[in-house]
Amino acid sequence: MAIPEKIHLEIVTADKQVFSGDVDSIIVPALTGYLGILPGHAPLLAELGIGEIIFKSGETMEDVFCSWGFIEVLPGRVVILAQTAELSSDIDLKRAEEAKTRAEKLLKSGDPNVDYAATELAMMRAISRIQAAKNVTLRRPHK
Ligand code: ATP
Repeated sequence: MAIPEKIHLEIVTADKQVFSGDVDSIIVPALTGYLGILPGHAPLLAELGIGEIIFKSGETMEDVFCSWGFIEVLPGRVVILAQTAELSSDIDLKRAEEAKTRAEKLLKSGDPNVDYAATELAMMRAISRIQAAKNVTLRRPHK
């Protein structure tokens, strides 16, 4: 069977479609490490971790922050169902920094009523968002 030239990529959360389109390659943070996907990749189901999905189409490179969910690789098609995802260029850095400060305070509080597991996850999201927002600025071509 001929290898398709493009991969149809869908990135969705429970409440929004973050991206839908044909791309040449995808790098995605699986729970076990980053996964590279090119057209013709073998079918696969994997857990999505936290980090940046980077995909290319021609000269265009896009970057989406995501945290936890599933990755389904089908012939010619990749579906990423994420708990949260947004274009890294849409990340509000100030909001992420405030979320990090809030989580840090709660983790240091010693308060027995704090949900520490949930707060640690919030902290991870905030740190990864800050990193993704910075990375996307670094990757932007200089004019
Ligand atoms: P916060 O405490 O700031 O709400 P959070 O990590 O609890 O952060 P999530 O539950 O991951 O937020 O996401 C809720 C919604 O808000 C999602 O639609 C997500 O895409 C969006 N979102 C969260 N933080 C940011 C941010 N810093 N910039 C842009 N969108 C964000």
